[in-house]
Amino acid sequence: MFRRNTITTSFNTLGLSADLLRAVSEQGYTVPTPIQAQAIPVVLAGKDLLAAAQTGTGKTAGFTLPLLQLLHQRGNAKTIRCLILVPTRELAAQVQESVRTYGKYKPLRSITVFGGVNINPQIHDLRRGVDIVVATPGRLLDHVQQKTIDLRHVEILVLDEADRMLDMGFIHDIRRIIGLLPKQRQNLMFSATFPEEIRKLAATFMRHPVTVEVARRNTPAELVAQVQHQVDQSRKKDLLAHLVKSNDWRQVLVFTKTKRGANRLAEQLEKSGVEADAIHGNKSQPQRTRVLKRFKANELQVLVATDIAARGIDIDELPHVVNFDLPHVPEDYVHRIGRTGRAGSSGEAVSLVCHDDRPLMAAIEKLMNRRVEQRIIAGFEPGRSQPRQHQPAKHQPRHQPRPQRPHHAPQPLPGPVSRPTGTPAPAPRPKQASEHRHLRAQAGLLRE
Ligand code: AMP
Repeated sequence: MFRRNTITTSFNTLGLSADLLRAVSEQGYTVPTPIQAQAIPVVLAGKDLLAAAQTGTGKTAGFTLPLLQLLHQRGNAKTIRCLILVPTRELAAQVQESVRTYGKYKPLRSITVFGGVNINPQIHDLRRGVDIVVATPGRLLDHVQQKTIDLRHVEILVLDEADRMLDMGFIHDIRRIIGLLPKQRQNLMFSATFPEEIRKLAATFMRHPVTVEVARRNTPAELVAQVQHQVDQSRKKDLLAHLVKSNDWRQVLVFTKTKRGANRLAEQLEKSGVEADAIHGNKSQPQRTRVLKRFKANELQVLVATDIAARGIDIDELPHVVNFDLPHVPEDYVHRIGRTGRAGSSGEAVSLVCHDDRPLMAAIEKLMNRRVEQRIIAGFEPGRSQPRQHQPAKHQPRHQPRPQRPHHAPQPLPGPVSRPTGTPAPAPRPKQASEHRHLRAQAGLLRE
């Protein structure tokens, strides 16, 4: 069944208990988001759910609220009855935060299980008994191997950001984990995109899932102003410091290619008087958590990150993303700029493009089927060896972005789907470019 709900529902009509409603209202939420309005009743009814929803749509509360209610209704067993699998440590921490926030009036216990931190406290917590485990696949399997986790009582399995888990190579781990769970259980799967592997995976373990799909969160192409600054490689750091200071930018997420590059850039920015730090895989989990916390609290102007480290950073209204190094894979550009413009806010994505970066930018423009406006900042023109100091930034648009063509409907979900009358069936999709297609669809850029 394909459900699309455009009518505004109230939280009170979804079947949630009073204590959950209280926790929700304490968050200041007045109306459920479309994914919440559709997912909550389905989960409460005990059905499997396959949901097309991206980060930023409110999907976490969409599954957390009803599962808290179901678990509580079924007692207070302190055995693992719900397993939530997520791709990254950061996302695990965020999801558990939601479990805690919404479940503050429920006596249910949750923990996170992820790598990069000492396993012993997790073993200790597991021994004490928990109801909900939010885990990344690798560390969960470490616990399975060490026999420190008991998954025999799992009633609800959630796969969150399933497409990202597959992108990160977790498919075999996920299959193994599913094989360890009781056959009789409820399955919820959330994914931003539905490439073939996701459809196949869903078909292997879900039972007659109800499929829901919400309009894509406002896509980067719609919301994020994109601009490229032409600049020599050696002047990129000065230009970045100049942009941050002269525009008084706050909460700037900057991408570099390498971990060393991230460290170096953060140090150079600090020297130029910009509060900056780096986050990447070589930092310990406590360090990463600390840096993220400072960034979220607006104590850091700039967070320099590598692509992997930046996954799972969800900050409302992150206003600026800077590509200090352009990604080698054009699709990563779409992921990166998707860090901004969340929750309906607008953002700006700035790319610093030196001569050698131009083919990369051309590939990105080709993927998106649109041009990214070029600007040259006075004093940082390519080929100039010295900056012209203390000049106000002058923007010289080289050419305007092409007007956008309308979007097509998102890809249909697997399973029985009925379309509203008059909606044309989606065109068959050529196979060869499928990988590119799902990313372009994600960016709202797919045109058929
Ligand atoms: P998510 O897609 O689950 O990562 O949620 C994105 C953001 O939306 C989070 O910061 C939530 O706190 C927020 N949010 C979730 N549900 C609502 C709601 N009903 N009203 C307003 N904000 C919400």
